[in-house]
Amino acid sequence: MTIGILALQGDVREHAAAFADLGETVREVRRPVDLEGLAGLVVPGGESTTLSLLLGSAGLTDPLTEALGGGLPVFGTCAGMILLATTVLDGRPDQLSFGAIELTIRRNGYGRQIASFEGEVVVGVLGDEPLPAVFIRAPVVEAWGPDVEVLATLPGEDGAVDRAVLCRQGPVLVAAFHPELTADRRLQRLFVEMTKEERR
Ligand code: GLN
Repeated sequence: MTIGILALQGDVREHAAAFADLGETVREVRRPVDLEGLAGLVVPGGESTTLSLLLGSAGLTDPLTEALGGGLPVFGTCAGMILLATTVLDGRPDQLSFGAIELTIRRNGYGRQIASFEGEVVVGVLGDEPLPAVFIRAPVVEAWGPDVEVLATLPGEDGAVDRAVLCRQGPVLVAAFHPELTADRRLQRLFVEMTKEERR
């Protein structure tokens, strides 16, 4: 069973190492042929507008749309989350949206003051121990559809509403933060479990 890491931009090595830690076989995905036979795919962070362009020039947009339509389990982090959402606010008009998870996302939504920060999030399905979470010019989830499960929120400061930072809809898992940059592997393990569910 092989986990693909979209390797056009971003923390490809860190994502690959995180799944290798769990004993999974990892394949970097750069061309359409690399999508063949994957159990799941990670779409890393980076810059969603640039990733959109790189996906286009690699000829990956259509094959990936098809794979997602066919139920390929996918784990999008940060820019990856933006690309997988249905609606993007403050994006470029021509940037891609795969529409794999029903979310309205605001790019760089945490504002300049707190654009990047580290925190901890409690993910109920992973137990009581909080998960370390690094946010880098992170997107804000503004709204979600009825089939989206919010798996973790970040408490809003100064009376602001809590913000959804980890969401799932069927085979699609998305995080506003960077789980590849910390040593906790529970989220990667959750994704591996999801890829097994899909194959049952
Ligand atoms: N702000 C970036 C974007 O718009 C995402 C940042 C990240 O992936 N760390 O795509």
